[in-house]
Amino acid sequence: MAPILKEFDYIVIGGGSGGSGTARRASGWYKAKTLIIENGLSGGCCVNVGCVPKKITWNFASVAETLRDSKAYGFDTPDNVSYNFAEFKKKRDAAVKKNSNAYDTNWKREGIEVLHGTARFTSPKILEVTLQDGSGTVSVTAPHICLATGGYPIVPKDIPGAEFGITNEGFFALEELPKKVAIIGAGYIAVEFAGMLHAIGIETHLYIRGETFLRSFDPMVQKTMTQRYEDAGVHVHKGFKGLTKVEKLSGDSHGDAKALRLHSEEGTIDVGELIWAIGRAPEVADLDLPTAGIKTKTKGHTPGYIEVDEFQNTNVPGIYALGDVTGQLELTPVAIAAGRRLGDRLFGPVTAQNSKLDYTNIPTVVFAHPEIGTIGLTEPEAETKFGKENIKTYHTKFAAMYYDVFTAEEKKTSPTEFKIICTGPEEKVVGLHLIGLGVAEMLQGFGVAIRMGATKRDFDNCVAIHPTSAEELRREA
Ligand code: NDP
Repeated sequence: MAPILKEFDYIVIGGGSGGSGTARRASGWYKAKTLIIENGLSGGCCVNVGCVPKKITWNFASVAETLRDSKAYGFDTPDNVSYNFAEFKKKRDAAVKKNSNAYDTNWKREGIEVLHGTARFTSPKILEVTLQDGSGTVSVTAPHICLATGGYPIVPKDIPGAEFGITNEGFFALEELPKKVAIIGAGYIAVEFAGMLHAIGIETHLYIRGETFLRSFDPMVQKTMTQRYEDAGVHVHKGFKGLTKVEKLSGDSHGDAKALRLHSEEGTIDVGELIWAIGRAPEVADLDLPTAGIKTKTKGHTPGYIEVDEFQNTNVPGIYALGDVTGQLELTPVAIAAGRRLGDRLFGPVTAQNSKLDYTNIPTVVFAHPEIGTIGLTEPEAETKFGKENIKTYHTKFAAMYYDVFTAEEKKTSPTEFKIICTGPEEKVVGLHLIGLGVAEMLQGFGVAIRMGATKRDFDNCVAIHPTSAEELRREA
């Protein structure tokens, strides 16, 4: 066994959003001697191949939409405004690098040590780290160890040629965009990618198993957004039974505008890229969890998620887990919040010793075209929880004023739609579901109100900001 290199107060495996959040709280605030072990890029998935490049690409696609819309406002914009994707990618890469570097800078400033390598348990409190620079292994130990290794995108193993497809990681590495793309999946990533790629003029085929996508969202979101994508020209293939084979027709690497032939019960289709967006799995393979006796669980069909209680404790004292590796809400801000609270609980003042994240009423946004914002219960969830007779919903669907200069048909296919779900005689708001331009920015404030226990009357008592879409969420009291 490698010799003990050093003892720490806190070891965090994984330098992504959650891992960094908890390490910085422990070290930066409470001066705990903290080590981060990371075997990828600093900042993890969100910064490097997730939220950050996605939002920049979403902005890129939104600019393309605005250029198209500009005609309705009387601008003499040519039909096919060209863009320089290489130039855009260079700038996006630079922004991502800046964000990722900020992690290293913050860790250094706050006195966090970093080992670039892969950790595995050799006993419940000892980790052996295989260093990435090839210089061997070191062993480290701490009374508190946090597992924040995240997840990885699933690519089916039983479909011949599935590996010719890419995931979000490959997508952000593309040096050129395909003319035609197939996306398999029906969650956040599939819907966001389909919206962006369609908006920038790529023939987009979205393959979903059900009749709608985003099936865990409120039925209003599922129905309206699936219809909206179809109206906009995304080819939504419903009731998809899965690919049977993927053939590579040309191209050497994923960066190429290669051609793939996809086979399914539907027949064959040739595309430039195939994107898998069928969910993620926990990154636990290298950790050797059985050696530490750490229990895992299966979520859906995916095994390996680390079991934790409400305080992020695993079944082994002194070992914690948070973020995507636990299968709790797989959202960056959730992992950060859970990490900071864990740092407070382990190293903070006595008053913070029961610190934990409340996983209810967490707002989330799908950066679709248009955006979707949601917090709290869906209508079916509210009915199950409170009984159908104890639920009241407020629903509105309209065309935002932005579309006043568009044709009637364009207006019809560009919905803004809100649903408020209330319960009890006081009409406490327990769910809010928003579709439309700007709802991503709109939701945060409503999230604060809902977390404070707002009722429909509280919404109504807040005087309107006119003219906005958000004012439709309240009625003059
Ligand atoms: P999701 O878990 O959100 O969705 C994947 C969906 O794909 C499933 O729900 C399922 O829907 C469908 N699916 C599963 N297997 C297959 C299959 N074999 N063939 C076709 N479809 C299949 O995963 P994502 O990969 O989209 O995203 C991973 C996580 O990342 C999300 O859970 C989210 O929390 C996070 N994320 C958050 C973002 C944000 O906050 N804006 C953006 C991107 C990701 P169905 O049952 O309907 O078929």
